[in-house]
Amino acid sequence: MTNRLVLVGPPGAGKGTQAVKLSEKLGVPHISTGDLFRAQIAAQSELGQAVQRYIDEGKLVPDEVTNAMVRERLAEPDAADGFLLDGFPRNIGQADVLGEILREIDHPLDAVIELKVDEDVLVERMLARGRADDNEDVIRHRLGVYRDETAPLIDYYSDQLITVDGVGEVDEVSTRALDALHAKK
Ligand code: ADP
Repeated sequence: MTNRLVLVGPPGAGKGTQAVKLSEKLGVPHISTGDLFRAQIAAQSELGQAVQRYIDEGKLVPDEVTNAMVRERLAEPDAADGFLLDGFPRNIGQADVLGEILREIDHPLDAVIELKVDEDVLVERMLARGRADDNEDVIRHRLGVYRDETAPLIDYYSDQLITVDGVGEVDEVSTRALDALHAKK
């Protein structure tokens, strides 16, 4: 079975877009920490106000906040049989916490999908999409954070890793990911 999944990749790699497609095809909820944070900001909740500054500056939200939010989200009934995590874990500490959560429910991760895209392409894509946190300085900062904190997860998850080339048409990339997942079963 391949229903407890993590999607990793640098900002701008198309994780959000692919996560929506893959979660539909696989019938599991798409859980994006970026989307969860942005919804809290839009609702002007206490959590939203606490995280806004980090997001605007391209920094990671502190682990305590992020881990607690994910733990709660994964406890919701729709995630009981599977999920596709997008944007979490983003560092080794978060990966350790995810490991704990999964041990508690006695289900391991089935696969970690890495979306691979060159840095030049990433910057180009992010400048084109123009989200609030997509100006060049913030983008460079987010790419640095990815390199330093998130990329080590590729080794951490080497046993479960599926690497997918993230350059190409949206459908082409999702087909590659699905084929690789099925081949792993
Ligand atoms: P991108 O993939 O382009 O970085 P996201 O929507 O995944 O966009 O994340 C936007 C911002 O939300 C990040 O720059 C960071 O500030 C915050 N964020 C998202 N996920 C996490 C996480 N797991 N830990 C800490 N901060 C996070």
